[in-house]
Amino acid sequence: MRARAKPSEARTARAAAGATYVALSGGVGGSKLSLGLSHILESRLTLIVNTGDDFEHLGLHVSPDIDTMLYTLAGLVNEETGWGRRDETWSFMHSIETLGGPGWFRLGDGDLAMHVERSRRLRAGETLNEICAHFRACLGVDADILPMSDDPVRTLVDTDKGTLAFQEYFVREQCRPRVHAIRFEGARNAHAQGSALRALQEPTLAGVIICPSNPYLSVDPILSVPGIVEALRACSAPVIAVSPIIGGKAVKGPTAKIMAELGLEANASTIATHYSGLIDGLVLDAKDAHQASALGVATRVTETLMQILDDKVALARECIAFCGELRLGSAKDRARIHDA
Ligand code: GDP
Repeated sequence: MRARAKPSEARTARAAAGATYVALSGGVGGSKLSLGLSHILESRLTLIVNTGDDFEHLGLHVSPDIDTMLYTLAGLVNEETGWGRRDETWSFMHSIETLGGPGWFRLGDGDLAMHVERSRRLRAGETLNEICAHFRACLGVDADILPMSDDPVRTLVDTDKGTLAFQEYFVREQCRPRVHAIRFEGARNAHAQGSALRALQEPTLAGVIICPSNPYLSVDPILSVPGIVEALRACSAPVIAVSPIIGGKAVKGPTAKIMAELGLEANASTIATHYSGLIDGLVLDAKDAHQASALGVATRVTETLMQILDDKVALARECIAFCGELRLGSAKDRARIHDA
């Protein structure tokens, strides 16, 4: 177990180490690229993570995307599911079902400890961010993992079965209901995580990467927190996104289904439009290369399917190189304007 560094010490250490990067991420899809980035950048990476999926279950505060990120970066994740811990045991689930308790949301024994300890610390007055920093130190994760806000923001999905809380839609109903709209309750009054805003203002910032998470369910909640979009627009480094759509399909999860239900085509063009005004570049898969010239934004075409660690690190390298290219481009543009 490592000692917990004070946030200011951590920032100083990062700045001393060179160029810093920020990534925005949800859980399963986003954590794959985050793992690749963390292998290269270590403590120079700050992750701003969605907490719109957080909910109260069995009297406990569960933060699914934060925990997926912690487990993934700590090497503890269940590689088959992409969430939860590997080598997990299920005595608690078995016992609670025997007692007639809810079994639709699976909490493994090791995972349960996280929710019990997080809830205990919240009750004692710690913030989500302080707790996350503590867990990160306990699990030996170098990258900074920041909840997008310490205030409650809850993703609500308006469907043909009525309004569902995110986990009811995603886990209990297995994404079957037809989606009409997605809302982020509490977002308007939420405060963006201070250290996230500071990371976006660092003079060492060399790039911001929007991970290939679900844009509607995982990235939009982050963008809905006042101050985040403004900070992204104001930051001096390039902002890029990685398309979560490959050849018209989502790799996993309901992204393409939701796009169809919202009347959108599942392709890179829809992703570029979704993030327009925010991103300077889009990374898209080689399968979608034919779309690259028509997107109205700088593009980088590469293999984006991440199956093994090498794929994750390779895509992370592409993202970092693309940010470098865009920085150079804008420096050249500036020089040209200056010369003119
Ligand atoms: P989350 O949104 O990050 O919490 O994770 P999900 O598992 O819900 O997946 C969200 C998106 O990640 C989906 O649209 C997937 O297509 C995308 N995704 C998952 N794995 C990959 C991958 O290896 N490459 C790319 N490009 N997208 C991926």
